This record gives sequence, C-alpha cells and structure tokens, in this order.
Amino acid sequence: MDPKTRIEEITKLLERYNYEYYVLDNPSVNDAEYDRLMQELIVLENEHPELKSPLSPSQRVGGMVQDEFQKITHKRMMLSLANAFNDDDLRDFDRKVRDVLGVDKVKYMAEMKIDGLGISLVYRNKLIYAATRGDGTTGEDVTSNVITIKSVPSHINENEELEIRGEVFMPKKSLERLNKERELTGEPLFANARNAAAGSIRQLDSSIAASRGLDAFWYYFVNARDFGIRYHSEALKKADELGFRTNPERRLCNGIDEVIDYIAEYTEKRPTLPYDIDGIVIKVDDMEMYDKLGYTSKTPRWAIAYKFPPEEVVTKLTDIIYTVGRTGKITPNAVLEPVRVAGSLVQRATLHNEDFIKDKDLMVGDYVVIRKAGDVIPEVVKVVKERRSDDVLPYKMIENCPVCGSPLSRIEAMHFCLNPHCDAKKIEGIIHFSSRDAMDIEGLGEKVAEQFFNQGFIRSIKDIYDLSRYRDEIISLDGWKDKSIDNLLAAIEKSKENSLEKVLFGLGIKEIGAKTARTLSRIYGDIDALAAASEEELIEIPDVGPVLVKSIISWFGDEKNIELINDLKERGVNFKYIGSTSRAADSFFSGKTVVLTGTLASMGRKEATLILEDLGAKVTGSVSKATDAVIAGTEAGSKLDKAQALGIQVLNEDEFLALIK
Ligand code: NAD
Repeated sequence: MDPKTRIEEITKLLERYNYEYYVLDNPSVNDAEYDRLMQELIVLENEHPELKSPLSPSQRVGGMVQDEFQKITHKRMMLSLANAFNDDDLRDFDRKVRDVLGVDKVKYMAEMKIDGLGISLVYRNKLIYAATRGDGTTGEDVTSNVITIKSVPSHINENEELEIRGEVFMPKKSLERLNKERELTGEPLFANARNAAAGSIRQLDSSIAASRGLDAFWYYFVNARDFGIRYHSEALKKADELGFRTNPERRLCNGIDEVIDYIAEYTEKRPTLPYDIDGIVIKVDDMEMYDKLGYTSKTPRWAIAYKFPPEEVVTKLTDIIYTVGRTGKITPNAVLEPVRVAGSLVQRATLHNEDFIKDKDLMVGDYVVIRKAGDVIPEVVKVVKERRSDDVLPYKMIENCPVCGSPLSRIEAMHFCLNPHCDAKKIEGIIHFSSRDAMDIEGLGEKVAEQFFNQGFIRSIKDIYDLSRYRDEIISLDGWKDKSIDNLLAAIEKSKENSLEKVLFGLGIKEIGAKTARTLSRIYGDIDALAAASEEELIEIPDVGPVLVKSIISWFGDEKNIELINDLKERGVNFKYIGSTSRAADSFFSGKTVVLTGTLASMGRKEATLILEDLGAKVTGSVSKATDAVIAGTEAGSKLDKAQALGIQVLNEDEFLALIK
C-alpha cells in the first residue's frame, strides 16, 4: 500500500478510536493496538514529512469536549506525553535532554502513570473549577463531580491562584464492587478502571460520581514557580502540605540508569498496587529547564511516559491436552505457539473445564488472545474469529481418563476420574503432600515424585517415610548423587516434626486449604480430637460451612484414611499442633496487631503473615493507632512514614527474625 493511503487509513482508525475512548468511554481496541497504530503513523510521517498534516492524530491531543458540559479554557495547555516503549527509547530521551541542557547527568522524578483521567484544578483559596483535559485547550467543567472525591480539598491554605493537575482514577476494589453491582442489575460491565473512572467523572448527575468510589493523585503543581519553588520534587511536597494526595511511590532518580532500575522494580510490583497503572512517567526535576527544553504541539519535551509491554497478545492454539489432579479432576490445558507476553514466554494456559471451552467456542487451530498481567497465570481471553481457517477442529471433551483409561464422570462443570487406583491421582497426592504449604519436603517435586512412583519406591504417602530403604537403588539412577539423596532424606526426616496444620493440609482432604487447616489445628490441637469432632461442633466454627463439615466427616469416616494416619504415626510423623499453644504464649507478637510493609529478603509476605499469626499476632493491612508494631522491609513506603509519625514501634528484618526464632 502506498504511504499516503496507509496514513489516511490509520488516521481514520485513530480518529474513530479516539472518539470511542474519549467520548464514549468505551474503546473497541486495547491500548497496545492503539499505540502500535500511532507508532506506525509516526514512522510513516517521519519518512514522508510532506504527508504530515497539523491535524494528524500524532500532532494533536486526542480528547474532545462534549456539548453537555460547560467549557473551560485552560490557563496553560493540558498536553499529552510522548511515549517510550523500551530502554533504548528512554536513553534516547535522556540523551536529547542532556544535549539541550549541556549536562552529563539529569535528575528525573519517576512516578506511577495512573490509568485514569487527567484533571486540572484551579484554586483561589477555594476550588474554582475542575476541568478535564478535553482537546488540550478547552476542557469540560466537571467540578461538581470531582468535589465528591474525598481526597480533593474544597479549600486550601493559600490565597494566590494555584493550578494543580492529577489523575482521577478508580481503585481496583471500587471497580470490582461496581461491576458486581452492575452484574446484579444487568447493566453492562466496565472493561477496565480507566473507562469506569472517565465514565463516572463525565456524568451530569454528581450523585453518580459520588457513589463510584473514585480517588485521585495530584502530580503536577503547574504554577509552582510563582510560589518560588524550582524543583518538581519540592512542588509535590508543597502539594502534599496543602492537602493534595500525591503518590508515595514516586522516586527522585539521579540519571537515566536509576530510572531504568525503578521501572524494573515497578514492573514487578505493579500487580500488587491497589490501582491500575499503565506505565511510568519520567519528568525532569528542575522546572527552570522546562522552557529551555520546550514543547511540541502535543507533548512537553521535559517528560516522557514509559508504557508497559502489552499484557494481551494473539497466538495459535495448537492442541488441547488433559491433566489429572489429585482428586481425579480432569483439567484441559491449551498448548500454545510460544509467545512473549508481559515479559515471559507463555506456551500453556489452563482451560478450566468443558464449559469454559464451549463458552469461548475454542477450536484447535484457532488464533486466541492470551492475557498475562504481571505474575498472574496466563489466561485465554477469546478467539479471534476473523482469523479462523477451515481446518480448525470442532471441540469434543474426552470421555476417558488420559492416564488409566477409566470412563470419566461429570460432576457439575467438572469431569473426574473416579478410579481410586488411577496412578495420576496417587502421584498428584504425593506431590501435594510434599508441597511447600503442606509438609514442605524440598526435593520431592513433580518430576521426582513421578520418577519414584514409576520405580515403585513411593506408591503412597506413607512410603515417603520408608524411602531410605531404596537409597542404594536411587543412587544408581541417572542424576542422583550421595548428596542429593541425603538432602532429600534429611528433608523427609525433618518434615516429621511439622505442626499439625501442615500434615492436615497435606492429606488432601477436599475443601481443606492451608488456611482452614490452620484454623482447625489451632482449635483441635491434634488429629484425634479433630477426627472425633461431631458435625454440630464443626459447624459452629467461624468460616466452616456445611460442605467442609461433610467432607471432614466423610474423610475421617473412611477406615482407609484412619489406617493412613496410623501408618504415618508409626513412622514418627507428628500430628499435634505446635503453632500457637506453646510458642505463642511467650512470643513477643502474641496478641499484638502487626503491619508488614516493604520487601523482606528472607521470606514473602504470605509466609511472614503465617508465622506471625501462628505466634498469636493479628496481621492487618494499614497502620493506625491500634497498630502495635510495623515490620519494615526494604523500600517500605507510606506505612513506615505513618508508623513513625504515630510513634509506633518499627522492627527491621533482622529484629523480626530474631523475635521469631
Ligand atoms: P497518555 O495516556 O499516553 O499520557 C498522558 C496522560 O497520562 C496525561 O494526560 C495524564 O492524564 C496521565 N498521567 C497519569 N499519571 C501521570 C503522572 N504521574 N504524570 C503525568 N501524567 C500522568 O496520553 P493520552 O494522550 O492521555 O492518551 C493516549 C493513550 O491513551 C494512548 O497511548 C492509548 O494508550 C490510550 N488510548 C487508547 C484508545 C483506545 O481505543 N484503546 C484510544 C485513545 C487513546
């Protein structure tokens, strides 16, 4: 296609997408697709400058103003941001900045790029107006909606005119709640937090905005220099003091290398944030340089937005294979043409069950959209029907267990292999028993469990504790050495001392997860007391429902299971709760309310929480006057600040480790 036609084609598409995104708050394509087209347009226009129009989407702020709203002319234009997609783009930006300023190193502020809606606030002691960005020159007056957000001050302690800009957004929790409500009332669900936030702020009835749980972060004190403030970092501090909520994750970086490290760190942390971000914004800290660096018609040259790699990609579904779980549950899995998404290579994704596949109308040979957000498990979102060819295979669920060949039974949406002797189930049971949250036997993972099962060394859980018998035979197997088998045997020996909740979880009783196992262990103290518990007694326990009670009663009612417990006891496995009874009473943490913040080098949050709870502490998510202690790992943020402000005891990782020994 000749460049002129392609430019026209992309322009038309981008204009349509802008309309759907900015006016309807209902985009038909994802941001990655929009960004890809925009990049293609920019490249074509650079190669053929004669075809570049000042009205091109690459040259204009994308938003629009709707007639229903009062119009507000911005005092200073509200621009967009240029994009960076990788380290090279960032270094390029840095080089240009350094060239203009004639310096070797630049201080940059790196900030979360909140995925919401840009808003400008103008104050003269009280809030005069709140406006959307619109087309950059003229925005929409949304004051009555923005003022419903609790963190937006109606008055500030400053009489001079002040303009501050930021992002109104919908926290993940609010979106979840809102979509649940909409599901009940049959209203269409919001596809993401940005559309929900934009849709809520651009409402004519402010009670709607008020009910939507919106929040805001303020990131640019536009006329800070009128107040004698030179640096953006100081302007944000001043904004904080005036009562504007600023984002605590920001970091002042000395040079682009520190910015790149920050981006790597937040690419990891992104899924744990309570709000959506779609990138990191990088701004030159010295605002006196802004005029020198200048502006294009669309973006400032002193800032850039790094965009995270797309979390959705298209790949081919080459096969569907089946795995058998420890309960006999059959799970279909997508085999995919390997594809990179959100930084990792994906070639498998669970398809859950037959209905999932039928609902999505998946056929082997189809092209499918895969989503992977951060460290979340990859999922198949939908089929790209337009790319379906004639040679796809209509889907049919298997009828027999792929391991033992027994006919499968369908129970609700799931298929099960009910053959108690199915090898797959036994192997899965062994893997589960030795897994981390259960007996935590390092070295007895999937591959080894399967190998030892097939060799006949471990055919059931109790055989784990007789493994030393096969020591010589194991050493003769490929890949095994004295040291590796001795380590495994030591790990098995050590597991005998575990507290009850670990073995209880490891037994794989239906409905008993790690948390329930802890609760039951704490209450009953040993397995015999739990085995003797009546239905009436069990149902009284908080969080224990009838399905769980039924499962417990039926499991302990089976002679074979009692035999298994006895076999394990004979081999020295502990079935008593060691957790809180003896240890907690004299623990520093007993009865205390504790908050974890930052990153611990020696363990994850989950593990630290379990340990603290076992020692009788209550672990909560936010710091208040009721908090007794805060455990602060590295990069602890606002919670640490708050603890210090409230005079709450703060423990570093070493102190924490010493106290739990
Ligand atoms: P942008 O989203 O790339 O960046 C600019 C905006 O970032 C600012 O206006 C501001 O609102 C926001 N922002 C968030 N945190 C910030 C911070 N800490 N500091 C400064 N600004 C911050 O640019 P844009 O012009 O608002 O939107 C263009 C983007 O929107 C596209 O790249 C695309 O991803 C998306 N879009 C998608 C569609 C679609 O159909 N899917 C259509 C139009 C636009």
